[in-house]
Amino acid sequence: MIGTIFEIREFSLFDGPGIRTTVFLKGCPLRCLWCHNPEGIREEPELLVNPHLCRKCGKCRAVCPSGERKESGERVPFRGTSCNACGRCVQACPVRIRRICGERIDDDALVKRLVRHRSFFEAEGGGVTFSGGEPLLQAQWVALCAQRLRAEGISTAVETSGYASQKDYRQVISAVDLVIQDIKHPDSAIHKRWTGRSNEPILRNLAILKESNIPFIIRIPLIPGVNDSAEDLSAAASLLRGSDKLLRVELLPFHAGGRAKRSLLSTPSIPDTPESKAFWECHAPTSHDAAAIAPLTQPQTEELLRPFKSLAIPCRVA
Ligand code: SF4
Ligand code: SF4
Repeated sequence: MIGTIFEIREFSLFDGPGIRTTVFLKGCPLRCLWCHNPEGIREEPELLVNPHLCRKCGKCRAVCPSGERKESGERVPFRGTSCNACGRCVQACPVRIRRICGERIDDDALVKRLVRHRSFFEAEGGGVTFSGGEPLLQAQWVALCAQRLRAEGISTAVETSGYASQKDYRQVISAVDLVIQDIKHPDSAIHKRWTGRSNEPILRNLAILKESNIPFIIRIPLIPGVNDSAEDLSAAASLLRGSDKLLRVELLPFHAGGRAKRSLLSTPSIPDTPESKAFWECHAPTSHDAAAIAPLTQPQTEELLRPFKSLAIPCRVA
């Protein structure tokens, strides 16, 4: 069976216990304005170009088989809206600033690649994590790969927004050893405003997870002014009452790394709406600002963790 991925990252320390290999899957149903992996949103492989390093030689335009290049004059670097990610321009570019993001791979080939890391996993208590994008968009393929890894004695985890049908959700969580799930906002209307989708399927699936016997970690990406108020975090903590298998809550401080990546995409995966422009104006007007966001102080950290501690939920700022 074939899946579409966009990265296999080795020696990851942030996607579950131990030293892990993380497989990033293409495709996501959400459109979070702060998305850190905008290259993972579209389901198909796509062309990425770093325009800042372009020498304007025109070789990309010259080799493109799409009819569009003829209509676009001398525009370089060339990025056609009808691009089918054939990769010819990637080969032609002398400064290697073009690449195809996305690879179709069958379960057999993926498992063979991952099994090679077994000695690291055994030595460090690690394993394989499926992330994205949203891995549950390719639920059957993820479940199949996880089952095959389990048969090889390799531990697996899935990192998910929880946005999926109940059938897909049950299929994947029962195939892995650990679920790492986001809560982006406890209120459905606010969730829809910032991510493009209501949180109803997510909360339904969270209830399934709480009733299951599968260990899980909840992650909350802290987005200033969106979900970091005491009320928002108290509401999130309330959702987690009675979770016997919850290992901990991790709060992830905001970073704006996805902002710079968006300029690499040929066509935006998150439309530039007035709301998205206002979001970035407020949170990181330039890439320089994105790198300069101050770390949380100890009193801020304590305040953010308070709603979880008050319910005796293990928690930390990651
Ligand atoms: S990857 Fe896209 S832009 Fe590049 S040659 Fe192929 S169709 Fe043209
Ligand atoms: S081939 Fe590379 S350097 Fe030349 S115009 Fe295209 S993107 Fe720029």
